[in-house]
Amino acid sequence: MQARYVLRIGAVFALAAGTSAATASATPAQHPPNYVKQATATGTGGAVASAEFNASKAGIETLRSGGNAIDAAVAVASTLGVTEPFVAGAGGGGYMVIYLAKTKQVVTIDGREMCAAACTPNLFLDPATGKPLAFEDARRSGLSVGVPGMVATWDKAVKAYGRKSLGSNLKPAIEVADHGFTVTPNFVDQEKEALADLQTFTSSRKLFLTKDGQPLPAGSTLRNPDLAHTYSEIAKHGASYLYGGPLGNDIARAVTHPPVWSGSTFNVRPGLMTAQDVANYVAKTRQPTHVNYRGLDVYGMPPSSSGGTTTGEALNILNGWNLSGESRAEATFHYLEASRLAFADRNAYVGDSDYQPVPVQGLLDPAFAATRRCLVGNKALTSPVAPGIPFAPYGTCPTSKTAANPVHEGTQTNHLVVADKWGNVVSYTNTIEQVAGSGITVPGRGFLLNNEMTDFDFAPATPSTYDPNLPAPGKRPRSSMSPTIVLKAGAPDFTLGSPGGATIITTVLQTLINHVDFGMSLPQALAAPRVSQRNNAKADAEPAFLSTDLAKVLTSQYGEQFAAKTGPVLPADSFIGNATGIDFLPGGRFQAAAEPVRSGGGSALVVNPQ
Ligand code: GLU
Repeated sequence: MQARYVLRIGAVFALAAGTSAATASATPAQHPPNYVKQATATGTGGAVASAEFNASKAGIETLRSGGNAIDAAVAVASTLGVTEPFVAGAGGGGYMVIYLAKTKQVVTIDGREMCAAACTPNLFLDPATGKPLAFEDARRSGLSVGVPGMVATWDKAVKAYGRKSLGSNLKPAIEVADHGFTVTPNFVDQEKEALADLQTFTSSRKLFLTKDGQPLPAGSTLRNPDLAHTYSEIAKHGASYLYGGPLGNDIARAVTHPPVWSGSTFNVRPGLMTAQDVANYVAKTRQPTHVNYRGLDVYGMPPSSSGGTTTGEALNILNGWNLSGESRAEATFHYLEASRLAFADRNAYVGDSDYQPVPVQGLLDPAFAATRRCLVGNKALTSPVAPGIPFAPYGTCPTSKTAANPVHEGTQTNHLVVADKWGNVVSYTNTIEQVAGSGITVPGRGFLLNNEMTDFDFAPATPSTYDPNLPAPGKRPRSSMSPTIVLKAGAPDFTLGSPGGATIITTVLQTLINHVDFGMSLPQALAAPRVSQRNNAKADAEPAFLSTDLAKVLTSQYGEQFAAKTGPVLPADSFIGNATGIDFLPGGRFQAAAEPVRSGGGSALVVNPQ
């Protein structure tokens, strides 16, 4: 079936720069007064924060109609698949960390995309030269697409922990897809960023671009009846409509026969995925990572993500210094160095733990962290620093000489958080990897396919370097996603997460120490300027950070080096991350926090605002 779409150019209204179209189009008649797009919301009864207003609203309505945090998280994620189709949706994957109030347990679901059974370590090597493909050639192809894990995650989470059915949780998204939503300036920016990719595939041109292949105008209304139909079929038949069903067949066909536009000059390589690969997919329950940071219990995502082990190791390193008693410059210096060292270990040791042993215990052992902390003096270390040896006995202050593996990770994803009145919490990062993923929309199905397989290393740093992150049959590429839940004395204290590829880890770390060590409120911690050191000579820094006296002192006194964060296309690329979180305040109140400025700002809502 060909993709059918309707694009209604709504009444053109003036949009002030930075004002969201969702705000502009929302009228008091349509929503109760509390449905306003805002970055912070405080109140009771439950809370949601996500990157987008319609999605947060879907979550709150699910909570209001008797759903719990797990149900609402699925409503938010599936609605993001409609309104943020370039960074979310059924064609992607992600990681869900859940706190269950009843059993006081933290559980996780690994819904990461999986490589086809025919994958080999040579997946991204050019057969003609034996050399790694250029990143964009790898990305804009069927080779980059992994079996999507999103719907399997939703299904598993709802069956195990929800109060409603998957079908009922998909209803808000179906409605938005059917009725349409207002195209925001941020949506248009994403189209500009991925324009060449969207233009390459007939199905993507038809769904997301104007007739002459250009970005949609801000303020127009985009309907997606194909996606409304796809979600309705999943609602009716369950996840088996995708895994082992007709939708899975369509996905495999789009991967092996990408619908390339006749005018494209790109060499689009077909992928290896079969319908059987799709049928074989399983979302996996895994033990969360855990570290104790200043008396708080910090839970995160284990491999196949490197999020939990890397934030955990960095926090263990930081535990050795009293950041709140140090000058802000010294404390920030320690943050940068802890992150630098933790990234060296991440790149050397973390991959899909179902494929090779990952020393999770060692990486999270405070005694191992001590062997990394001891390397930090008064001046910035020289990157790339070598990985440590996370195998007991750890030695005193050892270094090794292993070469660092090259890393590429995208920078656009989304993170959503939900808390309900029963005390359950969900922290969920999900993605299709780059903006617009592989660029391939499944014809007639209304969603884009991921390019998550490019999170594998294309080749080891040297032929003899051990690389835990090479492609293999059925393997999941290493992620940086770091959905995090923090407990204090056994009860939720706060939760957070962010997109941003490998900068996810530093955004979570920096926001966490802003809140815990520097005493900022969660909204302040999240809004503060960001800087990200990932074992590179220069740390990426937002312009707002570079202009601070703090940056000057870190350079002159501590020898830190910074590079202004820039992106390939847009001014918005100068931002790092797009975080959301919830702070659990005294008296059973929630403070939901989204970005006030970055990427057009996110949306925080509570059930009963105060
Ligand atoms: N693919 C990235 C990862 O798994 C996330 C995508 C992003 O945030 O850009 O770490």
